[in-house]
Amino acid sequence: MVKINRKSYPFLIITFLYFLLGFVNILFAYLAVACMIIPFVMVSRTGKKPWCSTYCPRADFLSLFRIFKSSRKAPAWLNSDNTRKLVFQFFCINLFFIVMSTFMVSRGQMEPIEYVRFLIAFTIPVDLPQIWAGPALPPWAVHLAYRFYSIMFTSTVLGVVLASLYKPRTWCAVCPVNTLSTAMIRQITVSEGNE
Ligand code: SF4
Repeated sequence: MVKINRKSYPFLIITFLYFLLGFVNILFAYLAVACMIIPFVMVSRTGKKPWCSTYCPRADFLSLFRIFKSSRKAPAWLNSDNTRKLVFQFFCINLFFIVMSTFMVSRGQMEPIEYVRFLIAFTIPVDLPQIWAGPALPPWAVHLAYRFYSIMFTSTVLGVVLASLYKPRTWCAVCPVNTLSTAMIRQITVSEGNE
């Protein structure tokens, strides 16, 4: 489980801003890439999870759900290795679809999907207004931006549902970033042990 070392929640605003900026221009959805790279750079440099313990904006956001004062423990199956693996595999499949569909859009083999989806398949029936026209992007870049927004939306909704039912950071137990960080740390520990 991730150790929490927060005295305040300064990064909370970033989660709100991220989703709001999607209404301004979908280009801002690319900020998600930082959340997909920085945690692993930190793990490789420190052998620990400073992203999870200190910097993750989503963790700050989910901590807001303390207001429900729910102390219900998540069921054992939710914290199991099998569930962790399943969630991780789902996000890998999601990434695979993102890469393949972006490639196909870039080749003109499919139309860009310019709306948000939940869990890959379910379309959210809300158009993001795009208040700022922004720079002209090729169709594949617009498609990819919506896909990043969708992946962040999906994981945030899942986190919120779990935080509402159980403890605020229940999502962290199955978060793919946590799963991969743990695997990296194990690998680092094994390599250091072999030296
Ligand atoms: S486990 Fe995921 S949601 Fe939780 S702090 Fe780490 S990166 Fe953020």
